[in-house]
Amino acid sequence: MIEKKAVKELIARVGSDKVFTDREYLLSYSYDATGMEYLPDAVVFAGSDEDVAAVIAVCRRYAVPLVPRGAGVGYSGGALAVQGGVVLVFTRMNRILRLDRESLLAVVEPGVVTSDLQAAAEKAGLFYPPDPASLKTSTIGGNIAENSGGPRCFKYGVTGNYVLGLEARLMSGEKVRLGSETIKNVAGYDLKSLLIGSEGTLAVVTQATLRLLPLPPCRLLFRVDFSSLAAGARFVQRVIRNHVQPSVLEFMDRSSLQAVYAYQGLPLDERVRAAVLVEVDGSPAEVAEREARFEKMVAEAGPLGRERAGTFAEQEALWATRRSVSPAIARLKPKKINEDIVVPGGRIPEMVAFIDGLAAEFNLCIVLFGHFGDGNIHTNLMVDPDDAAEMSRAEIVLDRIFKRVVELGGTISGEHGIGLSKKPFMHYQFSPVELELFRSIKKTFDPDNLLNPGKII
Ligand SMILES: Cc1cc2nc3c(=O)[nH]c(=O)nc-3n(C[C@H](O)[C@H](O)[C@H](O)COP(=O)(O)OP(=O)(O)OC[C@H]3O[C@@H](n4cnc5c(N)ncnc54)[C@H](O)[C@@H]3O)c2cc1C
Repeated sequence: MIEKKAVKELIARVGSDKVFTDREYLLSYSYDATGMEYLPDAVVFAGSDEDVAAVIAVCRRYAVPLVPRGAGVGYSGGALAVQGGVVLVFTRMNRILRLDRESLLAVVEPGVVTSDLQAAAEKAGLFYPPDPASLKTSTIGGNIAENSGGPRCFKYGVTGNYVLGLEARLMSGEKVRLGSETIKNVAGYDLKSLLIGSEGTLAVVTQATLRLLPLPPCRLLFRVDFSSLAAGARFVQRVIRNHVQPSVLEFMDRSSLQAVYAYQGLPLDERVRAAVLVEVDGSPAEVAEREARFEKMVAEAGPLGRERAGTFAEQEALWATRRSVSPAIARLKPKKINEDIVVPGGRIPEMVAFIDGLAAEFNLCIVLFGHFGDGNIHTNLMVDPDDAAEMSRAEIVLDRIFKRVVELGGTISGEHGIGLSKKPFMHYQFSPVELELFRSIKKTFDPDNLLNPGKII
């Protein structure tokens, strides 16, 4: 429980319009996309870097946990106040401070919504590629903290590949400027990269300098439907192997498609068991050449059907299916255990078959979709928390999946982070020595364990 004196001091330092302890505020900031809930003691809306410094100072003085938060659409519980304390929300720090066409970069506050940055960049003929499916809600601060990916990351890389520099507040209250405005920079230890993906446990990001690219002038999107999960997975592997260089390579299994079509009130062809979305981009000549190679592969694979989306409206319609998967499958069962495992591209069919086998063996509804191009298989166990037998079967299956992923050379999280939900599986991927290194890094940055405590390790 936070002391009244601490709340008074917060109000005195950042203003009463930014500090809230009313129950409706606490409830509104008590959950994220995992559905887990932890009530904070206070919610503070940061308006500036100075506000952040002031909140850190108060939290330190009264030994109050501090949890940074963007839009709260994280999938691993990272923004939850598991030990109470202050949730520091960044949605009011949402200004794009600079869009530099000469140096191809943007300087932004952490609360900028991802799609707002993309739209502003596009207006200037530029391109900010990282595109988590939550992009219309998620913030740049959250994206950096989770090192978020998305469909286009197959070709363009993840958020971290676009972070040139960061400004952040340490728990000492001091301000650090990490990185630079350049792509190349090998001076000193790479602390900027240490903060990227650190899930708000090492420092609070108050500003980011992001790399932009020239906007590709031409884009084509295809959907290819298959009559089996295995045929779809094999097609993905073939696209990777044949170097078509798609900008997007996404996968949806039968259950995802069924859920989305029901959600959209549309009929689905009974025979379709898997759909693959493939986007190619570049100059008109490059796109034409990639399309020709891609069409050859489609003909060889013998799919049930294929759709070509040339116009923006046609592409958005195809994207709507993919982006609706998460909300649509959430209606299948009361709870979705949402994992984002990754395996090397060559092991995708093996991993998919393994999960399919587990679903049958343990009589579980497991929905597979996601960024298969980079081996990132969103594995959703749809369960009913009131069904104890089903929950314990799900526990066994999860454990086997994580173990297998690491055996195949993969990772237990490709983009959602560890947060709370994947903490129990860290030992599959990291040795005691490695986990101890994590602990000592955390201690160096946050000796009193006040910044987002209880996460990752
Ligand atoms: C429908 C749906 C689809 C999704 N699709 C994808 C996807 O395709 N790819 C993907 O990668 N993720 C995806 N996600 C997960 C999620 O959107 C991302 O993790 C996103 O980056 C979270 O952003 P946020 O602003 O909501 O952050 P929050 O959920 O608010 O916070 C996430 C983490 O960031 C930390 N944090 C936030 N701001 C700061 C800051 N200023 N300084 C330090 N730490 C900070 C928090 O403490 C927390 O640990 C999806 C989620 C949903 C609900």
